Amino acid sequence: MKAIELKAGREKSALRYHPWIFSGAVDNVQGDPQLGDTVEVYSYRGDFLGLAAYSPKSQIRGRFWTYGERGNIDRDFFSEILDRAIAARKSRGFNIADKENAFRLVNAENDGIPGCIIDKYAEYYSVEILAAGPEVHREVIYELLAEKTGCKGIYERCDGDVRVKEGLKLRTGAVFGEVPDEPVEIKENGISFLVDIKNGHKTGYYLDQRDARRRIGELAAGKKMLNCFCYTGGFGLYALRGGAEHVYQVDVSKDALKIAKEAIMRNKLPTAKATHVEADVFQYLRRCRDKAETFDFIVLDPPKFVESKDNLNKGARGYKDINLLAMKLLAEGGMLATFSCSGLMEMPLFQKIIADAAADAGRRVQIIERFGQPADHPVATGFPEGQYLKGLLVQVI
Ligand code: SAH
Repeated sequence: MKAIELKAGREKSALRYHPWIFSGAVDNVQGDPQLGDTVEVYSYRGDFLGLAAYSPKSQIRGRFWTYGERGNIDRDFFSEILDRAIAARKSRGFNIADKENAFRLVNAENDGIPGCIIDKYAEYYSVEILAAGPEVHREVIYELLAEKTGCKGIYERCDGDVRVKEGLKLRTGAVFGEVPDEPVEIKENGISFLVDIKNGHKTGYYLDQRDARRRIGELAAGKKMLNCFCYTGGFGLYALRGGAEHVYQVDVSKDALKIAKEAIMRNKLPTAKATHVEADVFQYLRRCRDKAETFDFIVLDPPKFVESKDNLNKGARGYKDINLLAMKLLAEGGMLATFSCSGLMEMPLFQKIIADAAADAGRRVQIIERFGQPADHPVATGFPEGQYLKGLLVQVI
């Protein structure tokens, strides 16, 4: 029997459905389990806690598949999870039968497949596996996904650095059907986006900002907007549709900007009202400050600045820096939509950073709305770490 026994008291999180077993919680391991093997998990008293996938190299030594239930981690197990994820999405307005839409079908731990993300882009699926458990079951997951969705192709984006910590090799490629080399067109709230499944960031696109983009589009009429870290243009496209006077799209990625420009034409939005700038946002904001330029609306949607607890302070300084600069560039009555996708930076700290930035910029600012994750990026209550994206809409008064 392959099993792990936890130290006294370390069963508490499992009883609350927290999916991770840290290496420090493990008292002993029996049966010599290998990477991704299913192990039974017991408390120090010998109570059965559930089944987990074993990761010998990772700080997260195990990830629960089941809580308090025995059984096999097999085709039926994954079939049931996928059915549940598909039905849950449908009940939230995301239908796999829709050939144009895009959404997250499986949100890893939160949907019961720890370390596995499955995103739908029109008729294709892009999958990122970040842990040993789903890695050893990948073939069955792909077969089921193809069967249940009737999709045209599935592409693996198993190229995230975290795989190395898990002892997994990086790997990308089509695992079912064919996936085109050119970007795939998806529809999001009626806007066309081009998603580069093979080379884009993460699985190709940032689906998690869908709701925030729509809201900001509603507020953009007549405004001069600065969209920082624009990637393939998301917020800017919504703003143009919403009647923005001009949108400045800034990103370091030339490839992303090229797609952003194409998307404006494809949506028949006014190209003359958009300026694309390939620049480092930290420098660009300083240049705007030096020229005393102002904007009516600024979006700051940076990449993850906090990768680990050790660099929380450094990350916090990064957020403070860009937010302080942005506050200085806001016109009277101007709005700033500011985000953090660092899970380790929780809302209270983020809000404090925004307050500090306002104080240092000498601006009186109100928080008028809060942003989180959309319904296809659910957070399991037992897994608060699942809540990574947060944002504030603030206005200078
Ligand atoms: N707002 C986007 C997603 C942003 S993701 C959307 O709605 O889809 C973060 C983006 O920041 C990436 O496109 C990345 O290329 C860009 N980026 C990272 N560091 C940067 C920097 N220092 N200056 C400008 N862009 C940067």
